[in-house]
Amino acid sequence: MKKMKTGIQGKIAKLASLRFTDYPVTSVFLNLRPSGTRRPGLVFLKKELSRLEKSLFPNSSELANFSAERAKIERAAAEAQARKANQLAIFSSFRQEFFEPFFLTLSSESDLRIPNSVVRGSRPYLYPLALLADRLENFLLLVADLRNGELFKVETGRITESWKKEAVLHPETRREKQGAFDRRTGNTHTTFTKRVEGHRQAHADKYFRSLAEKTGAWAQTSGIRSIIVGADAVSGPPLKEEVARLNSHLSIVPAPIDVKLSEAKKLALGVAAFRKKEQAISLQRVEELFFPGRRQAIFGAAEAASFLRQAQRAGVLVLDEAFHKEAQLCVHCSAMAFQGCSCPVCSGPVQTAALENELVCLAAARNLEIEFVKDSEPLARKGGVGLLI
Ligand SMILES: [Zn+2]
Repeated sequence: MKKMKTGIQGKIAKLASLRFTDYPVTSVFLNLRPSGTRRPGLVFLKKELSRLEKSLFPNSSELANFSAERAKIERAAAEAQARKANQLAIFSSFRQEFFEPFFLTLSSESDLRIPNSVVRGSRPYLYPLALLADRLENFLLLVADLRNGELFKVETGRITESWKKEAVLHPETRREKQGAFDRRTGNTHTTFTKRVEGHRQAHADKYFRSLAEKTGAWAQTSGIRSIIVGADAVSGPPLKEEVARLNSHLSIVPAPIDVKLSEAKKLALGVAAFRKKEQAISLQRVEELFFPGRRQAIFGAAEAASFLRQAQRAGVLVLDEAFHKEAQLCVHCSAMAFQGCSCPVCSGPVQTAALENELVCLAAARNLEIEFVKDSEPLARKGGVGLLI
């Protein structure tokens, strides 16, 4: 789905256009969740860094550079633990004095994680982050009835902020309670009742408006665009209408969530509704690829990459999660070299790189939406990669 620059999106956008042509960038991903008393992520890191170090020539300047880089990476892993982050991504290149750690804490109930890996190349390995960003459960959850409203900010599947609003009820006067004749205007009983009804309505409108305004304010500051709205049959329609009226750019998903439920239950139902919506978007993207209407669909990794290298147009990159392919890519311009060891376009050096990462970098650098799709047979038959422009 289309997302704004939240933390992880911002990180991807920042790194997507970088190229490290004279010294490789090391991309490290660690899942730091403990398993028993050990942290398999740290064991993995130690092993991988030693393996890398051994692969470099003894006494070379590259080895000296890497040893210093290694120390920095290990310090960042220690810092992640101190910060109680359970996922860590690091992008570092020693020669260019480039070091970008990224700490993430995913909820313990969430099955999301970044698989451990250490990758070196001329491009940051952004694929795992893009995949995570697509699955991340970031949304606002608004639950209300006529009396009470609650707003939750859900980030990476956890409630990170909450806010409550109680409806101010119309204070009934004695006369109103009795439903008496209005002496001042001389109105009859029915008109009077109508006016009281009007007061009540004004209070309700104000209450819905304040819920909608708070939702809009949070959406703006957090960059979150999905709102799950849980409300009963009476307050649901006016609430949704007001949220939509004030926040036309947000995607509003109604869900059967009662305000009287426990917070944990509300969150669980909200997450379920969010996932269902995300899945629907994935399916819709695949369908758009096959029935693009006025747009254009390009299939195949090489075709998509070559289009993205030149195009500046916005669009959607649709990737089968299972797609993986290595190719000889130019370090300078990403052109694919089918034979020989230099770039057919700019004569730059070529390197073996994961095509899926190249696609993610190209798409993110051009601000394209990236949608990951699971188990789509039609897309798999077309090579697992589609580009909708
Ligand atoms: Zn080139």
